[in-house]
Amino acid sequence: MASFYRDTWAEVNLNAIATNVTNIKAILPENVEMMAVVKANGYGHGAVDVAKTALASGATFLGVAILDEAIALRDAGITAPLLVLGYVRPEYVKIAAEKDIILTVFQPDWIEEASAYIENKDMKVKYHLKLDSGMGRIGIRSADEGKALIRTIKKYPAFIVHGLFTHYATADEIDQTYFNMQHDRFEKMVQLLEEELGESVRYKHSANSAATLRFAERCFNLVRVGISMYGLSPSEEIKDILPVSLVEAFSLHSRITQVKKMSEGERISYGATYGTKDQEWIATIPVGYADGWIRAHGTGSILVNGKRRPIVGRICMDQLMISLDEEVEIGTKVTLIGKQGKDHITISEAAKRLNTITYEIPCTISSRVPRVMKQNDEVVHVYNKTL
Ligand SMILES: *Cc1c(COP(=O)(O)O)cnc(C)c1O
Repeated sequence: MASFYRDTWAEVNLNAIATNVTNIKAILPENVEMMAVVKANGYGHGAVDVAKTALASGATFLGVAILDEAIALRDAGITAPLLVLGYVRPEYVKIAAEKDIILTVFQPDWIEEASAYIENKDMKVKYHLKLDSGMGRIGIRSADEGKALIRTIKKYPAFIVHGLFTHYATADEIDQTYFNMQHDRFEKMVQLLEEELGESVRYKHSANSAATLRFAERCFNLVRVGISMYGLSPSEEIKDILPVSLVEAFSLHSRITQVKKMSEGERISYGATYGTKDQEWIATIPVGYADGWIRAHGTGSILVNGKRRPIVGRICMDQLMISLDEEVEIGTKVTLIGKQGKDHITISEAAKRLNTITYEIPCTISSRVPRVMKQNDEVVHVYNKTL
């Protein structure tokens, strides 16, 4: 059986991931470890393959958003330290302990409730305390809240504090004022909490990709790198001031299923909004909004034989049409994201078209699109959720 039968697929260049991890690691002080953030199926690239590649290239820690993602990595045989960055219900501490998954904690009530699920004195739950230094999302917001949480923690030796962390809201902006404020708040809170705990905590971390790349000397002893490991700049604003050149790992391709010569004024797609010119070549491509190629991409182009050709008419659920400047063969490979010849449609270009950030583009290419993992130009694994 083939690993997929459709003519639309994404390719993930694992060499690019390895290069990015190696190059980012190289700018970090020696005592700073790197967590590869592989939430959301590795930002749409394929979490297991990305995690293995990152670990083989110098990362020592993994981060995900939800418990399910952590369990999937453990079930795939990955044994590296693994932190769930988001909230996990207290009743799930047993599975976290069994699978050696580290949780994020920021509420005294959570500890109280979770303690009811501790079954014996050998059961240990590792966690990182989350501080909200200005993101306004999750975390302890004041010294008093921190002290209250630590008082509760001290009652339950089953819970092992393994890290303290926070998250920046503006590290990808040129203006550093808010970033500096968050950094200083976090630094003070770390000091206070360690005094309160009466011990030094193993990991302290605050940096996402943007902070890692820009402020490597202010990253405590662990960085959490997501977007840049995939070869993308955290923002357009800091794209040109990054200290390492990043290699984009993700590309998206399809193959033409029909080519026809149309006469003047014939109509294309739902709503019959596009009228053809005389003798216009129109090709159909089997990718649509159910694949994450949403209707707003309709203003964009697709590479055919190294040339940009415009999408015409509305994008359908499973198909779209483009205008050609000449007849091409059925089965011709087209590229929606990536390189063909000298041209490159980048994720950044696709993001600008949709008025959004690079993060959203690979994440929203749906699981109906198989991910073909390549290393040294050879296919090493295919990930297909549909079959
Ligand atoms: C997603 C996430 C990261 C990674 O951020 P990037 O900008 O992709 O590097 C780091 N920390 C937390 C808490 C996150 O949720």
